[in-house]
Amino acid sequence: MVVEEGREAGSATPVENVETYTSTTPEPPPPVWITPAQGIVSSPAGNRTNPVTGNREFHDGIDIALPIGTAIFAPKDGTVISVAYIRGYGNTLRIQHIDGYITFFAHLQRAAAAVGDVVTQGQQVAYSGNTGMTTGPHLHFGMFRNGEFVDPLTRISM
Ligand SMILES: [Zn+2]
Repeated sequence: MVVEEGREAGSATPVENVETYTSTTPEPPPPVWITPAQGIVSSPAGNRTNPVTGNREFHDGIDIALPIGTAIFAPKDGTVISVAYIRGYGNTLRIQHIDGYITFFAHLQRAAAAVGDVVTQGQQVAYSGNTGMTTGPHLHFGMFRNGEFVDPLTRISM
């Protein structure tokens, strides 16, 4: 008799607490990287033979095959920290993100944002192109955290 009463009390109280609980500090979903452009990855990151020079090199990004003029989107909120022509990479743009991340976009036709611009995830920042040393139109997309290379395919899904 005493044992049964104890069981009833022990099972009813926690269920009631769960049903009436409401968080006063709702947690937003974690920010997730989005791809800067939908397309076929024509060359992954890592060691490869450079298709133009034939030299062995570390490919510090992924190549996404895209027609010239395709919109390139900010993969996460950030600030544009450089827009420059770099030999080999052609027209480039860099975005600084939170948590030490920098994303790098190369072989662009042209930038669609300027240094200092605060950009939001999904905002167009450039047009893809075929500038610099390439074998065809594509976006070179690099990602770095605290100066260390990060394979973009470990952060985005194509
Ligand atoms: Zn590349």
